[in-house]
Amino acid sequence: MVSEKPQQSVAPNPAEPLLTVRGLQKRFGSHEVIKNIDLEVSPGSVTFLIGPSGGGKSTVLRCMNFLETPSAGEITFAGERLCHTEKGRLHRASDAVLRRARAQMPMVFQHFNLFAHRTALENVIEGPILVLGRPREQAVADGRELLRRVGLLERADAYPAQLSGGQKQRVAIARAVAMEPRLILFDEPTSALDPELVAGVLDTIRSLADENRTMVVVSHEMAFARRLADRVHFVADGVIAESGSPDEIFDAPKNERLKQFIRSIL
Ligand code: ADP
Ligand code: MG
Repeated sequence: MVSEKPQQSVAPNPAEPLLTVRGLQKRFGSHEVIKNIDLEVSPGSVTFLIGPSGGGKSTVLRCMNFLETPSAGEITFAGERLCHTEKGRLHRASDAVLRRARAQMPMVFQHFNLFAHRTALENVIEGPILVLGRPREQAVADGRELLRRVGLLERADAYPAQLSGGQKQRVAIARAVAMEPRLILFDEPTSALDPELVAGVLDTIRSLADENRTMVVVSHEMAFARRLADRVHFVADGVIAESGSPDEIFDAPKNERLKQFIRSIL
């Protein structure tokens, strides 16, 4: 995506984190999946979550935008508290606040999650029309422009089944960007793709970073993380076992588990 105009959305006070997570916990039944996670996301930054499968990366992302309800902890997004814990009980913000937060923090999934019976363009314009209340003509014009920027304008009327995995993922990214998000969450956006389709999707994500968009990315693409990340968190067994700059994490890891992880994926 080529940036043609400066993009939107920095928090009113750039020193203030856009997203703050404190003491996050998540249990499924008796299974304590997230034990205690703290993190902050600065406006305009790219944060990577890396770590072994089953360590809790997806669950952290899903708690951030309330696809999952945390068991405990405090999440603040764009100056609004989405939840906090008091006397051992989780208090959630109103549904209206959570809905707004979710709309401003869309997620791009490993398996695209496009509407199968809608065209690429219809997938992109649905949120702007239904959630943002955009007039249809404007949503269509904006949606076509977004599809052009991800290189898919000529596929605007194709259905997901007619697109490659890489094309589907670029539609999903255009759909997220169409929501004028403050933050975009990516959960292994290239893990389901054939190897030759990965680069196109990574290029699209990189162009979003070039626009200074704020993103949290779960990915096993370590070279990509290294180039793009401002901050990397190593998530294992439901905690952040180590955090740092890409150089710190990849060149000078301290945590044994992280050292092992890096060896295993290189
Ligand atoms: P990662 O994304 O790092 O691979 P996940 O967050 O998907 O890890 O999963 C962490 C742990 O939580 C795993 O043991 C997984 O089986 C469990 N888990 C995730 N979602 C659910 C769920 N909806 N119900 C029960 N257990 C879950
Ligand atoms: Mg996952």
